[in-house]
Amino acid sequence: MLRRDKEELLAKFEGALHLSGWQLIWIQYDHPAKARLFRADGSSPAIDVWLYIWNLTGGGRDGSRPLERRIQRTGRGNVFRGEPGTRSLILGWSAETQVFAAFDYSYHAVAHGKSPSLQTDLPALEAALRDGLGVYAKKTGELSIAVRPDMLGFYVEQMEVLHESGKDPAQLEVLRRMASSPLDVEPSDVPKPRRKAMVTTLRLLRDRRFSQNVLDAYGHKCAFCAVQLKLLDAAHILPVAHPDSHDLVPNGVALCALHHRAYDGALVTFDDTFVIRLSQSKVAALRGDNRSGGLAAFKSALRPSLLLPRRQISHPSTVMIQKGNQLRGWT
Ligand SMILES: [Zn+2]
Repeated sequence: MLRRDKEELLAKFEGALHLSGWQLIWIQYDHPAKARLFRADGSSPAIDVWLYIWNLTGGGRDGSRPLERRIQRTGRGNVFRGEPGTRSLILGWSAETQVFAAFDYSYHAVAHGKSPSLQTDLPALEAALRDGLGVYAKKTGELSIAVRPDMLGFYVEQMEVLHESGKDPAQLEVLRRMASSPLDVEPSDVPKPRRKAMVTTLRLLRDRRFSQNVLDAYGHKCAFCAVQLKLLDAAHILPVAHPDSHDLVPNGVALCALHHRAYDGALVTFDDTFVIRLSQSKVAALRGDNRSGGLAAFKSALRPSLLLPRRQISHPSTVMIQKGNQLRGWT
């Protein structure tokens, strides 16, 4: 039987994974646990993991390291299991900051003898609470990554790149900047070795920060219909692929899943006075194809004009609106 504290920790893991847009199936509900992780929207391949998890506790007994936090490996977790095609997650849960610390399996794959503890520190955990991720670096190049629950899926997906960054000081420096303010880091800032993998990580971090900023600005309501229900996306007005696009709030608009699809498909848009417009040519084509069912309800759910952020500085930029509409074929 699984001990009560382990059950609670596995529940924390599962809850955090859901929060970050992932699902899981337990393959072995024990400690270590084995699970198959997959994205709810099917957008990336499933990942199998061995999961080791403990509560983080305070540092050295003599009080000489007040900021240190550690996990103490015990029981069957004493030797970490690795398996080709399966990732090994070693996590500590911090009740104090409500974030996880994730340790690098590759440094601890061997039996560990005298030193059964792995360390992180409070500043890294606090950084994760604030920014989503925090970094604790040891002189050996080993990194512990502090992870806020809503970033857990991201961590699992990117864990190799994240931990690898500890091996090169320039890369570590960029990782720290990416974690705290991803919108201030450009792909060209990333050092050459492993640039491709790091840039993918950067893109994901920038997307998350952009979404957070846009949804906060719009009060987590759809700008077209005011729906909340956690069904919202942050849509780029001028898409990312365009050279003039950027990840700042004036190039974003909060849209529910339905209106995001309709906006990207140019069925509906808004002009530079924020008036919402339905495409008459699209409507005519849909009628011609016998695909206009629900149109009246769709129309009546639309506000006459965009629901705007309270602060004017966050309103959509006129230039982005014009370029975005032109790109989507509006005249
Ligand atoms: Zn909507």
